[in-house]
Amino acid sequence: MGDEIYTRLREHIDSMPAGYPATDSGAEIKMLKKFYTPLQAQIALSIGPMPETAQAIAARLDMDEKEAVTQIQTMASQGSLFRITTPDGALFRHPNFIMGLYEWHVHAVDKEVAELADDIYEGLFEHHWKNRKTKQLRVVPVGTSVSGKDTVKSYDMIRDLVKGPGKGPYAVAPCICRVEQIKKGNEVTRPLETCLTFGLVAQYYIENGIGKPLTQDQLMEKIDECEAANLVPFSTNSKEIVNMCMCDKDSCQLFRNLGKFPKPAQEVHAAFHAAIDADACIGCKKCSKKCQIDAIVQTDIPAAKKRFVQRVDTDRCIGCGLCVGTCPQNAITMVENAVFPDVPDNAIEMSVRMAKERMAIAAASKEMA
Ligand code: SF4
Ligand code: SF4
Repeated sequence: MGDEIYTRLREHIDSMPAGYPATDSGAEIKMLKKFYTPLQAQIALSIGPMPETAQAIAARLDMDEKEAVTQIQTMASQGSLFRITTPDGALFRHPNFIMGLYEWHVHAVDKEVAELADDIYEGLFEHHWKNRKTKQLRVVPVGTSVSGKDTVKSYDMIRDLVKGPGKGPYAVAPCICRVEQIKKGNEVTRPLETCLTFGLVAQYYIENGIGKPLTQDQLMEKIDECEAANLVPFSTNSKEIVNMCMCDKDSCQLFRNLGKFPKPAQEVHAAFHAAIDADACIGCKKCSKKCQIDAIVQTDIPAAKKRFVQRVDTDRCIGCGLCVGTCPQNAITMVENAVFPDVPDNAIEMSVRMAKERMAIAAASKEMA
């Protein structure tokens, strides 16, 4: 089958809502060869985003049904297909690459995979993140920064977002971006086990040994640990979430790519930005050291002051709230953005919106050609 099967698989994964664009280096094809045998690639081509039984998929394949079912089950256990366990048996569907099969291969990342990932992320940001109305992730402000605010939505309160009936089970897995850094030989100073999943996705993580189960109390401790380690919560861009990344600028692909934009604030969904009271600020710069996107900068000396103070660059601030608790003067507050993000109800609605936007963009480009 040669490379052609992987090219077709690349196109198939690119047809999923989050996309999988071609890169100049061909990193995306090399990555697929690491994760799929040619037979598995062939099977994946027959599987779409809607859940089906293995038997229904096998019936479309030109191979022995028993062998096909075994292959489908193996692919799900390796992280290449999503499996939903129901009382009536397992259902399978094709996932996105990012926020999907890539993260599910976290235990298969080696130095080569880690280096290929850089080009793949750059392609994804260029083609499927930049200027997109609906992105896959949104910033959830850290709990201490917005607690007590009566205008904050429940899905922007990190603890309300993740706990309560129907939100479990919970799982934690190694952060794939920090694993990449370790495999590249770079030092990682932040906690490794910070990739959080919820509900059906957590169940899949636990069943396949991708992540470990957490109780609700352990989840709360994990969120505290992440805040203490200066990690920015990015959840599924929906009110009911399935995953939460805990990102930092030293390791994470998200920050590496967001940092390239002149106005990162325009490239994320966030409900808040930080503001510094110049009269209260003593210019200690503790907040600047916390900020993961370099959004806190020195400003001119106000006339009444004899020293510099800090100010927030609202084109860069992504509203994470990490700076708030660090200020010895309580000079930083979180302020609602003028436009509140229109947050989808759940991951399915988010995916449908993303897919429709991609179709509209493709139709517009076709018309212009
Ligand atoms: S200034 Fe930086 S740390 Fe503070 S909320 Fe904005 S992005 Fe987060
Ligand atoms: S931590 Fe507070 S006092 Fe120190 S520079 Fe930042 S805003 Fe000013």
